[in-house]
Amino acid sequence: MSEKAMNVLDHGFVRLVDSMGSDLSIVRSARVSYDAAWRAGDNKGSDEKLVRYLLMNGHSTPFESVTATFEVKAPIFVFRQWHRHRTQSYNELSARYRELPEEFYIPDLLQVTTQSKDNKQMRTDEVNDNAQSIRAAIHAANEGSFATYRALLEADCPRELARSVLPVGTYSHMFATANLFNWMRFMKERCHPHAQYEIRVYAEAIMTILKGIAPVAMKTFMDKYNLG
Ligand SMILES: Cc1cc2nc3c(=O)[nH]c(=O)nc-3n(C[C@H](O)[C@H](O)[C@H](O)COP(=O)(O)OP(=O)(O)OC[C@H]3O[C@@H](n4cnc5c(N)ncnc54)[C@H](O)[C@@H]3O)c2cc1C
Repeated sequence: MSEKAMNVLDHGFVRLVDSMGSDLSIVRSARVSYDAAWRAGDNKGSDEKLVRYLLMNGHSTPFESVTATFEVKAPIFVFRQWHRHRTQSYNELSARYRELPEEFYIPDLLQVTTQSKDNKQMRTDEVNDNAQSIRAAIHAANEGSFATYRALLEADCPRELARSVLPVGTYSHMFATANLFNWMRFMKERCHPHAQYEIRVYAEAIMTILKGIAPVAMKTFMDKYNLG
């Protein structure tokens, strides 16, 4: 078990649980193709050039020699988007096994903006005139749902049914594992300004942690896609 968690949103976090490999694993995997020698630490310049060449030219498999597992706590609506990435492996908390704690997402005032008129999915950057009352309404709705949830459990309603009244702002908890190539695919989509803010901040936290694991590959990736 490793590093401390990076806090994300109001109750969430991302924590690196485990990782395998580094920039060196990438160049080692690439060099086996032409049976070249590889040595740790004494050919840094050519290693960096090779990593850049591989990434810029779509040679993806050497990046699969690095893997990382993250523990993530996030609202269920973030997980709905996240789990579309089928090349990651997931294990998530089951609300059939245990009662969910009363933790739900309330956006910062600055995030309560207005609906974009020219992009059907996105919101604008302008804070909504009704931001305070919108936040209060989100809070009240979540509190009401949790009150019903608790009442159902007290009436001996099975947990697997009681959870159906909980909103998608409720926090859940998972482990997600992928290789670096697939983490890059995830970050390319979810660090993009068109991605929803609430998943973007998680993807950015993952990007920060991965920079510490494979700094050359990550710098090349971030330059290529103009991220960070
Ligand atoms: C800004 C944004 C908006 C979005 N809006 C919507 C939306 O409105 N509605 C919606 O439903 N989704 C939406 N998505 C989700 C999107 O369609 C993808 O499901 C998601 O981004 C995961 O991408 P992926 O399939 O490439 O990833 P992964 O599942 O990780 O797959 C990676 C790659 O593996 C290959 N692959 C994996 N599984 C298969 C398979 N079964 N068959 C063939 N090839 C496969 C494909 O090449 C794929 O690109 C949105 C995503 C973003 C970033």
